[in-house]
Amino acid sequence: MKIFLETFGCQMNEYDSELIRSILRSHQHTFVEQLDQAEVALLNTCAIRENAHERIYHRLDDLKGRKRRQKNLVVGVLGCMAQNLRQELAEHAPIVDIVAGPDSYKRLPLLIDAASGKGAKGFDFSLSEYETYSDIAPQRQPGVNAWIAIMRGCDNFCTFCVVPYTRGRERSREPQNIVAEAHRIAAEGFKQVTLLGQNVNSYRYEQSDFADLMESVAEVFGIRRVRFTSPHPKDFPRKLLHTMAANPKLCKHIHLPLQSGSDSVLDRMNRTYTRQEFLDLVDEIRAIIPEVSLTTDVICGFCGETDADFEETLGVMQRVEFDSAFMFKYSPRKQTIAERKFADDVPEEVKTQRLMRLIDVQREISKKRNAVEVGNVYEVLVEEPSKKNSDEWLGRTDQNKGVVFFDDAAKPGDFVQVRINAAGTNTLRGAVERNGWRRLPVQTECCVS
Ligand code: SF4
Repeated sequence: MKIFLETFGCQMNEYDSELIRSILRSHQHTFVEQLDQAEVALLNTCAIRENAHERIYHRLDDLKGRKRRQKNLVVGVLGCMAQNLRQELAEHAPIVDIVAGPDSYKRLPLLIDAASGKGAKGFDFSLSEYETYSDIAPQRQPGVNAWIAIMRGCDNFCTFCVVPYTRGRERSREPQNIVAEAHRIAAEGFKQVTLLGQNVNSYRYEQSDFADLMESVAEVFGIRRVRFTSPHPKDFPRKLLHTMAANPKLCKHIHLPLQSGSDSVLDRMNRTYTRQEFLDLVDEIRAIIPEVSLTTDVICGFCGETDADFEETLGVMQRVEFDSAFMFKYSPRKQTIAERKFADDVPEEVKTQRLMRLIDVQREISKKRNAVEVGNVYEVLVEEPSKKNSDEWLGRTDQNKGVVFFDDAAKPGDFVQVRINAAGTNTLRGAVERNGWRRLPVQTECCVS
């Protein structure tokens, strides 16, 4: 059948969509780019943020109209939202024919057959203690970066988070299997691998820990850069930091989710570290990997967050000076501990004001941290044409900073030396340096945001 697959949410969902493509192609299904060419519409969904929910329901409303005109269209909802809101989605019948959680993708061919052949509905949201999809080779889109999921699920039960309920218990893949996938990726021409997991640095398989795995992947011929996301601050042993510092292929960027700078909020979030422990970890990371860039996630307006709690968060942001941050207002997610136990008692307008303050503070910090890069030369991996000007390239430094530059000889996947000559809040701008001379044009003003 002709399948239209749309992906919402995080990189893990993007990776799962690559697995879904592989599973369905092996059952002779094909994929189409346009919804109006499709016989089956699959939405691979996310349950983390409220706006992802809204976008998916909006999409389902579209499909409702389409299904009136195309009666045999099969509609499937997959992923975290399918797992989390199965009852609610089942009530969308007859719009939704298939509901399948993240551990049920191998049953998709059967579910599609059931829904399309006999009009029967196919629901499967069993969670597995073992499923890692390690026997499936994902069908990747061409590019410079390839994702590898090295583990699935999470055992941390942060009180605001649905992941332990939608993706089940934590389980790691065999290291040999991951390294074999990295060899295939390198043979396909990818230069960079990003190791993925909901709590990626708690990876462990028998005697092998995350640092061992990173080194093994970095040894793969053809792979020039290894990244990872998303780690938890509680899982940064010194061994991992020294491994990152010593190996030039391991990128010097750590996304270190803070979530809150207040001990009482961190406790209610069940983050298992204190403000001081987080600050000590930042100091240790910077002592061992001086060139590291640090980014973070912050939630404001969590249950019971007072003005003083929020000031503590701002204090940590000002003290650490993250290179950039993803900042969110708290909204309760169904089934989570926070939704069941705590009152969502910070008024919406207070959440909005706090978010605005966070964004303002972080914008100044990012600007300052980027400004000191002017004059430095970085090796940049060329990714794609710049969105604002397709004559220019967007690439990334080892520290994961975006750099816009002009080079008529470059192509995606190349590594070029770029001297930074202007800095904005989110992006750097530079000029290529090759054999001691500089390619045009050199910008005097920064026009990036
Ligand atoms: S570590 Fe916490 S926030 Fe991250 S996936 Fe696990 S429960 Fe969710």
